[in-house]
Amino acid sequence: MALNPADRLVSLHYRNHQRRQVLLALLVITFLGGLFFGTLNWMRGIFAAALIEFAFAAFCMVAFPLVRKTRHLQAWTLAIVLPWIAAVWMVVSLPAAALSVFIWGLVLPILLMLLLGRRIGLTLSVLSLLGVMVIAVQRFGLPQNPDQLAYAANLAIGALAILVLSYTYERAREKAEQSLRHLAVTDTLTNLPNRTLLYDNFASTKALALRQKTPLSLMLMDLDNFKQINDRHGHDAGDHVLRETADLLRKRLRKSDQVYRMGGEEFLVLMPDSSLEQATRLAEDLRRRIEALEAWHQGQPIPLTASIGITQMTAAEESFDSLLRRADQNMYWCKENGRNRIRAS
Ligand code: GH3
Ligand code: MG
Ligand code: MG
Repeated sequence: MALNPADRLVSLHYRNHQRRQVLLALLVITFLGGLFFGTLNWMRGIFAAALIEFAFAAFCMVAFPLVRKTRHLQAWTLAIVLPWIAAVWMVVSLPAAALSVFIWGLVLPILLMLLLGRRIGLTLSVLSLLGVMVIAVQRFGLPQNPDQLAYAANLAIGALAILVLSYTYERAREKAEQSLRHLAVTDTLTNLPNRTLLYDNFASTKALALRQKTPLSLMLMDLDNFKQINDRHGHDAGDHVLRETADLLRKRLRKSDQVYRMGGEEFLVLMPDSSLEQATRLAEDLRRRIEALEAWHQGQPIPLTASIGITQMTAAEESFDSLLRRADQNMYWCKENGRNRIRAS
């Protein structure tokens, strides 16, 4: 059974996709803003600011197609966001700039939190807002009367509110993302990881085995005549047996072993640091335990057996699909030869 590569995309880089969209939106906004303010400032005779704004617009245009494809999103984000902060600082410090430019300071926390997550986002937000405050105090001094105080307090408290709100939002978003990811990679019946996660994990498990020069084995287990269990005892009984089997596997296996529900009544165990002999001993023990498992449903005992195909990674370049194929062939050999048995090769 080959794994669908599209399955992998569900769990991979979901967050990067979101952040990439935000960064692209920022590039578009900055491009348009750069053109507009560049032209405006040129007409007002503030040539230094105009040139910087045109340069920014040009940079955004060049960056846009690169950001769409890059695998180094965080680095690109910093390369765009840090000049952005510097630009805000610079603009608010220009004596000729309108007072309303301080509004850009309020955009920073939202931007930084969305693009860099709550930790880096919060740190950079606090630093960049402190910078804006220092510049404001240098330009205008501390508030001298209630009117000035009200003006400054509006901006400062507004900035604080945006900071807290965007931090809270980002934290909730990260939690939602975590549970979404958990749902995407977990089988809800048995609470075992599903094959999407297996595909994600296999590459790193294989890499570790190669680096540590340790064997890597895999077993594929299929419950025998499972359709009969459903037919005789009902679908609920079938579900119950699947959960019992999952519990048994979880309890018996080592912490370092990884067990997945492949779908239906099929389970896969990835065993790092296990030779074919060790994996075979374990499979035989599991086969016996499943045979001895007294799964009861509504006062009725449900006899259960399993067929298990085992294999070991033989070469560094061996793909997951080739390993799985061998385990699958061994498993089918068991089915054809009476079931309730194991085979390794
Ligand atoms: P074999 O020994 O050759 O594997 O026979 P089998 O009956 O186990 O194999 P088959 O593939 O014919 O049937 C598998 C059955 O498993 C069919 C399907 O209804 C049932 N099944 C798959 N997923 C679930 C599930 O989540 N819950 C329940 N109760 N049954 C399931
Ligand atoms: Mg079966
Ligand atoms: Mg099956």
